Amino acid sequence: NAVCEVDTHLSALELLYVCQAIETKQHRVREKKWGARTIDLDIITYGVQVIASKQLIVPHPEMMNRGFVLVPLAEIEPNFKVPVLGPIQALIDKLDISALIKL
Ligand code: ADP
Ligand code: MG
Repeated sequence: NAVCEVDTHLSALELLYVCQAIETKQHRVREKKWGARTIDLDIITYGVQVIASKQLIVPHPEMMNRGFVLVPLAEIEPNFKVPVLGPIQALIDKLDISALIKL
């Protein structure tokens, strides 16, 4: 897993469509929910926006449960305050991340 930060002129929904187009281009095949996949590009946060639409939920609704999202996000933005959820480090402190392996 990896986290990257991007500057974009795209709206959050337009960015989602770009991510989905990349997934399709990589011939993503879904075998089972949450199973192994070729690629999965999710939007974790989008500035300070809070979005809850049918197509897009931001901040990502599972981010607070996923050390493999929070830890690499904190590497690039250690003082990040996640909209609604609060400081990234406080979210990490609530999780057991002992099984995470940095590649
Ligand atoms: P998941 O990423 O949950 O394992 P998918 O990649 O198949 O599953 O995404 C399923 C749907 O989740 C997408 O069609 C998209 O509309 C929706 N979705 C809602 N919020 C987000 C988000 N923050 N980032 C990416 N997809 C999202
Ligand atoms: Mg996804």
